Amino acid sequence: MRTGLGYWCSTARQSGASVAGRAFPSSDGSRSGGFGTPPCRGRIPAPGGPAFATAEQPSMKPSDLIRLTPGKRVLYLTKDPELIRRQLAGELNLEMAHLRVEDLLDDINTDAMTPAWVCFSHRPEDIARDAYAGLIVDGERLFARDVLRDGGFEVIVSGYRKGVGSSRETAVQAEKWCGVKITVAASFAPIHAGNNINQGVLMADHAMLERLEAGDTVPLEEFASGFDPMTRLKIRWGGLFPFSKALAAGEIELPTVATGERPMTMAEKILARHLRGSGSETGYVQPGDAVVVDVDAGYSHEFTTAQVHEFLAREYGAEYKIANPSSFAVFEDHLIYADEVPKMRPFLDKIEVLRELQRVFQRHTGVRDFSARDGVSPGICHEVARELIVSPGQFVQATDSHTCMGGCNNALTWGVGTTEYANLVHSGFTTVEVPESIRFELTGRLAVGVTAKDLMLHILLRYARPQMTLNKVMEFGGEGVASLSMDERATLTNMATECSARGAIVEADKKTIDWICARRPHEDRKALEDGAVTADSAAHYDGGVHQIDLSAILPMVAHPGDPDRGIPSDPTNGALVEEIGDVPIQIAYGGSCTAGKIDDLEFYHRVVKEAVGEGLSIAPEVEFLIQFGSAEVAEHCRRHGFVETFEQAGIRVIQPGCGACIGCGPGVSEDPEQVTVSAINRNYKGRSGPGRLYLASPLTVAASAFAGRITAYKPGMFRQLPVTV
Ligand code: SF4
Repeated sequence: MRTGLGYWCSTARQSGASVAGRAFPSSDGSRSGGFGTPPCRGRIPAPGGPAFATAEQPSMKPSDLIRLTPGKRVLYLTKDPELIRRQLAGELNLEMAHLRVEDLLDDINTDAMTPAWVCFSHRPEDIARDAYAGLIVDGERLFARDVLRDGGFEVIVSGYRKGVGSSRETAVQAEKWCGVKITVAASFAPIHAGNNINQGVLMADHAMLERLEAGDTVPLEEFASGFDPMTRLKIRWGGLFPFSKALAAGEIELPTVATGERPMTMAEKILARHLRGSGSETGYVQPGDAVVVDVDAGYSHEFTTAQVHEFLAREYGAEYKIANPSSFAVFEDHLIYADEVPKMRPFLDKIEVLRELQRVFQRHTGVRDFSARDGVSPGICHEVARELIVSPGQFVQATDSHTCMGGCNNALTWGVGTTEYANLVHSGFTTVEVPESIRFELTGRLAVGVTAKDLMLHILLRYARPQMTLNKVMEFGGEGVASLSMDERATLTNMATECSARGAIVEADKKTIDWICARRPHEDRKALEDGAVTADSAAHYDGGVHQIDLSAILPMVAHPGDPDRGIPSDPTNGALVEEIGDVPIQIAYGGSCTAGKIDDLEFYHRVVKEAVGEGLSIAPEVEFLIQFGSAEVAEHCRRHGFVETFEQAGIRVIQPGCGACIGCGPGVSEDPEQVTVSAINRNYKGRSGPGRLYLASPLTVAASAFAGRITAYKPGMFRQLPVTV
């Protein structure tokens, strides 16, 4: 059987009669030898009306006792797709008492729940119509349009690690707006769990479900147990918006933080400095403290802003206001080149709606406007934000997972979902559980031909792969930081999200302040210096302190794995370039927020100039594309003659914006056999087309484009290559 997403367990997918060989009672209660019909959910003897929010009333506070609603159903996402099909068709009802957790699907990823094309709709009701559109079996959708919404399900059940993959909140919205009130799993991916909490969807385990199915009530407190005090309040109030409204109305007394004087990391110092009101009696925080903090700045882009506007209008009325408009911004960057990708063309109308709604939001709120002018974007949000918005010591939130890039400016920055962002732009504050930290003490200097990207691929392999960076703030310090330019520091912080870290932050020095002042002459230099934080020498790092000698780093790649051996394409698949053998390429791409900065363009140019000087152009079978990260980067390249050199070599130069990186611009692969070497940050399967994608440094990308195979750059290397022009 061909399995679109590799979810289906082939041993469980037998010809049909049972889940992993287990028998169910038939509808009359007798046991059949094969597959019977378990008792119907509609017969659960529970009195009364709904115990929690409905699709029409999404922000309702749940009752103190939770029970299943008479007439509503429970959907089991079993490893056997046929059982799902029969439940959706109304031919079958299952019960937890007759199933094992092993019978249920594990690792359901958010891409399967709401593929990217579903997210081109911004109204949750529309997104819900295509819930689980990414579950493909034998080349067909298992969940037809509207089938989940029309099935009368209020509980959905799966196995381990529900909601892995992208942090997209639409996955939760799709279930919620189909009427799902409780999601049951053996475990949840942390960001997905947070999205459930913010949306007011209750999370339960299989034992709780058995009690509910037996007709019992379960106290709401049980659904909230094990969470920090602030999260428990959000669960009790039915999600983030009702919690915030109750807070604003004085109906909630926040738990105070009683952490006493202690040495703190950079992240802890920033959060302690941003505590709102009487959040702490001492001005100190420690990991695990649940705090309310002011947010200094934030931004959204055209893929997310429409939902922010929609949610604020629904919750606070069409005339809603936001707290500090001048501190927030919108960017037009993610979908600017979508019309160049044939797969995206059916969605261009929807994309135009997203753009227009962002314009509406910007006019309505007065936030800073970084819209495209004459079809040209001012740049990728994270690059422009570090140039013009993010300052040392600030706490910044935005609707994108690479928001962490701003940590290069000695700020604490990370991405949030649309509900969380809408809530914080409205109020000016947010709630946070203080994260743990891990420190990297850098020594020495990178060798010639080695970049911060190689260092990051090394960190992904050595520290992120064994989960040492998971959910932590990665702190970079030590004398080695001084040798790195601001752009190279930004490469480190950008890829914190690939490390599954909460964020990353780099110690500030004179270079930091000079770099910001050069771009923002109106800024007060002294205020920037005063804003900077350093870690206390005795600060505690739950993730430990790790020395990295920069001079020992060698050119690296992250390889695309081996699907036949069950090795997924992942940024943590690190290998030395010299170890991977002969890998011919067809596409070389240099750009994105990770590798579209001035220093990255300097790297590409160094290689291209040398090759052109030797009479070379790019290898005949290779397409090489370079895309600027921002208008400032583009201007730098024009002023220094880079563009002429690139064009002389046969490179396609593209205006600022996201593009191939998100599968929405020139440079995406079109067939699974194509091999790309790319300076972007992610090589997850399908993200930049169906081909095999190697992550590498800007120097390696450029050198490979001329060599026609993945090759590390060495000064003078082209003197050995045959002339191709
Ligand atoms: S360049 Fe890629 S990773 Fe960066 S913000 Fe755009 S889509 Fe995201």
